[in-house]
Amino acid sequence: MGRKELIVRHSFPKRVVEIIRRLEENGYEAYVVGGAVRDILLGTPPDDYDITTSATPEEVIAVFGEKNCYPTGLAHGTVTVVKGGKPFEVTTFRIDGDYADARHPDEVRFTRSLEEDVKRRDFTVNAMAVKMDGTVLDFCGGAADIRKKLLRTVGDPATRFGEDALRILRALRFASEYGFAIEEETKNAIHAQKEDLLKLSAERIWKELSKLLCGPEFASVMREYFDVFSVILPEIAPMQGFEQHNPHHCFDVLEHTLVAMANIPADPVLRLTMLLHDVGKPACFTMDDAGVGHFLGHQKLGAEMAEQILRRLKVDSETRETVVLLVRDHDITMEPTPKIARRRLSRYGEKTLRKLLLVKRADNAAHSEMCRYRLGELDDFEKILDQVLKERQCFSFSMLKIDGKDLMENGFQAGPFLGETLRKLLNAVIDGDLPNEKEVLLARALELKDGKNKH
Ligand code: ATP
Ligand code: MG
Repeated sequence: MGRKELIVRHSFPKRVVEIIRRLEENGYEAYVVGGAVRDILLGTPPDDYDITTSATPEEVIAVFGEKNCYPTGLAHGTVTVVKGGKPFEVTTFRIDGDYADARHPDEVRFTRSLEEDVKRRDFTVNAMAVKMDGTVLDFCGGAADIRKKLLRTVGDPATRFGEDALRILRALRFASEYGFAIEEETKNAIHAQKEDLLKLSAERIWKELSKLLCGPEFASVMREYFDVFSVILPEIAPMQGFEQHNPHHCFDVLEHTLVAMANIPADPVLRLTMLLHDVGKPACFTMDDAGVGHFLGHQKLGAEMAEQILRRLKVDSETRETVVLLVRDHDITMEPTPKIARRRLSRYGEKTLRKLLLVKRADNAAHSEMCRYRLGELDDFEKILDQVLKERQCFSFSMLKIDGKDLMENGFQAGPFLGETLRKLLNAVIDGDLPNEKEVLLARALELKDGKNKH
């Protein structure tokens, strides 16, 4: 493989330039490497800049001083250098040893050769380095592959996936994020070695999967590699080809799911919710005498399945709880009235309610034409919701014009009855049965107390 040189114009962050210059002044080589180089060549601004150097971790620490360095991944040669309050990962050129378990190298060895370092990297497009003058060092043909939008492993795909099965998922992630086509041999090895994904830790899988689901090309990747997804998410396998036999649906469950996902913003919670919102359908299917399909209870079963899946993937609890709730309630009604808007606000809070509305919109957009009318209903609901919020209409205890202290000053004892009374007052205000006025609420509270005492 010949070493090709190419110059890019890019203005690197000042601190990255400073770190690299300091290493060079001390006699070491240092470059920006990996994802940032790929992004620069693709014309997208890099999220972060990883630095690779010929200096060993001890040498890096000696150059920048112990107080500016954190030994975040010393075993892998990574030192986090803090410059101007910002952390940068500086990793020593290294060669990975043998992989016995399809996920961890048995040992890593440091090297003074950049070429050896880039050759251990996963894909040609991720195996380039760049100097601060814009010279790209490309030992594996990554720049040509970027031009062709082609994803190819560095070296033999079967060997490289055999070393670390996460690369299988990373390939799909890059295809989804950047629209790369996957080169034929790489593609065949992905299908052939997909079962190795079961050897990976849940955390590593989720990190790649969450990015994959948010990529613009997730749907075509999921269609083409559904067998691979079914290894890590066996629960979704029955959705493929599952006909709904229902006039509201023009797609099978998987296709409906993919269209619904495409109709929601690229956010891990929302994409995951749409992926799982109908996961309970195949197991809940019944057909009536007229030959129409029904899925009674699929929301509840889907929520239980989502809970299990997300626990297995060790997804953070906030994401898990939100997704489970959104799956469970994705079919809840949203009649466009102020009363229902206040009830839904009281139940979900504004943030989750807005998400639920996005979920319902996306779900609806993936139904057949005849029931899209509901989108108009959601528009109306949202207008009313905005109005309720703007007018600060009461939907929570903190907005209620009476509290526990007021009740205790009027003869209530602390305890469950006081709590129940406040809940009844709040519900009455939410439903529009009482105005949110202190005198009226107090009078009603006293009536409730009298009623209780009479019994
Ligand atoms: P992103 O821009 O989304 O962070 P990235 O390519 O930078 O994408 P990272 O996980 O940050 O992804 O990895 C940085 C670099 O390390 C990659 O570009 C690649 O060169 C190398 N790399 C990461 N994971 C692997 C792996 N499993 N096997 C081989 N090389 C890897
Ligand atoms: Mg990165």
